[in-house]
Amino acid sequence: MTSTTQTTDLTESAPTESALTAELRDNALAALERLGAQVPVPDADEQGLPVVSPLSGETLLTLPRAGAAEVDAAVGRAAEAFTTWRSVPAPVRGQVVKRLGELLTEHKADLAQLVTLEAGKITSEALGEVQEMIDICDFAVGLSRQVGGRTMPSERPGHRLMETWHPLGVVGVISAFNFPVAVWSWNTAVALVCGDAVVWKPSEKTLLSAIGSAALLDRALTEAGFPAGVSQLVLGEREAGEALVADPRVALVSATGSERMGAQVAPVVAARMGRLLLELGGNNAAIVAPSADLDLATRGIVFSAAGTAGQRCTTMRRLIVHESVVDDVVARLARAYEGLPVGDPRAEGTLVGPLVDAGARERMVASLEEAVADGGQVVAGGAVVDVPGAAGAAYVHPAIVRMPAQTDVVRRETFAPILYVLTYSTLDEAIALQNDVPQGLSSSIFTMDVREAETFLSEAGSDCGIANVNIGTSGAEIGGAFGGEKSTGGGRESGSDAWKQYMRRATNTVNYSTELPLAQGVNFG
Ligand code: NAD
Repeated sequence: MTSTTQTTDLTESAPTESALTAELRDNALAALERLGAQVPVPDADEQGLPVVSPLSGETLLTLPRAGAAEVDAAVGRAAEAFTTWRSVPAPVRGQVVKRLGELLTEHKADLAQLVTLEAGKITSEALGEVQEMIDICDFAVGLSRQVGGRTMPSERPGHRLMETWHPLGVVGVISAFNFPVAVWSWNTAVALVCGDAVVWKPSEKTLLSAIGSAALLDRALTEAGFPAGVSQLVLGEREAGEALVADPRVALVSATGSERMGAQVAPVVAARMGRLLLELGGNNAAIVAPSADLDLATRGIVFSAAGTAGQRCTTMRRLIVHESVVDDVVARLARAYEGLPVGDPRAEGTLVGPLVDAGARERMVASLEEAVADGGQVVAGGAVVDVPGAAGAAYVHPAIVRMPAQTDVVRRETFAPILYVLTYSTLDEAIALQNDVPQGLSSSIFTMDVREAETFLSEAGSDCGIANVNIGTSGAEIGGAFGGEKSTGGGRESGSDAWKQYMRRATNTVNYSTELPLAQGVNFG
């Protein structure tokens, strides 16, 4: 990452800001200092990029805004660094990722603090996000001694037929606000061991945690004597993302965000025949069968539906409950929702922090109104919550709405904690409801009936990239490939063989005989 030394007094507070904002700024700058990160400052005549904390809804500080020119330069530096990095042996590249994992472990609390300040996650979830970064580093280090191809039998005597895998080039990573750092690490740890260089455009809503993460990787690279150009950070908005997506030097665009963003990005990358990895919105459902362990189901549902204030791509947004247990399930959930502590995500005991901004709150309120107009009945939560000292923040109480049918509002992803409850009588009906949305990210079934569980996991079951039994829809581990189908974009990141997307495959035939036999028995004179 390139950064200028801080030259102006960032701690000078604006006259109208709250005491909370001043405290958050101090905390953020102290965490960044511990992370060894320099905070770039905008030129005096530049309209900078504001860093707004959802905890206060106010601007903490202003950063330089990267546009197309800065993206062009960053891609150039990454492309240059790639020419060296690609020839470093993969296990040696793995050692850099190992060091990144060590630095993340050392600075887990510092980075988690930034995640809380910028994304509004409760401390435990923010720490979990950094742990996920550490886990993917571990995974990628192992991968650095495993990436490789197969050897297949050749039909020709004295010939060897094999596949070799090579680094792709520059990978452009565009990330969303709600996993501000983990998504970067999923891509970056794997891309680095694969031999790629990475240009990261984080969400404009989570810039400081990006600066902190990039600083740790810069440190790991420079300590090992490698060019820091391998890792580039561009702090910009949609325009910067568009420039990255359109750049023909970017071999793979890995973009995480809304379905709207994916629909804009996909045709641009396809038109230049680039590679694309899309991780877009979800509209995840759980089915609760008559045989379900309802205590366990209630716990799993509340975590998936209300956790992270409903701002996970895998958040449970729909619950499809058998008619024989629906009243019981709704009553249990309503009781659990009543006691959900909403408030400052840094405070001990808080389970629901703020929405990212007022716009998200407005969209939640509008969706609830639409659901009620469609015949829905709000059975828990849904109110806007005032947190003392945080007048500009957008706190809400997670909502449960019983719906008569899967109407348009239910079929859309509203990125807020609304759980729509639908009823079914046969498993086929439940699976059809579960699949009848544009998105295909995560799904689950709560059942003690092995036939139901296996049917749900079969080709006639869930059409999602993630299908679980007796756990909720959220909280995936890094070992499996992560991603979803349909309008979720079809990408797979993180574990399993997701690494293949970060490399190009060559098929090689080597003739070590003295003859030149042609394949398929062709005779050419
Ligand atoms: P968003 O789409 O508003 O922004 C995501 C990123 O895309 C940001 O960095 C933004 O600047 C950039 N961007 C926006 N338009 C662009 C364009 N035309 N070209 C290039 N870049 C562009 O999403 P958000 O509000 O930050 O995040 C929430 C959304 O992300 C939800 O829909 C959520 O489900 C989804 N998400 C999906 C996954 C997944 O793995 N499937 C993970 C996290 C979040």
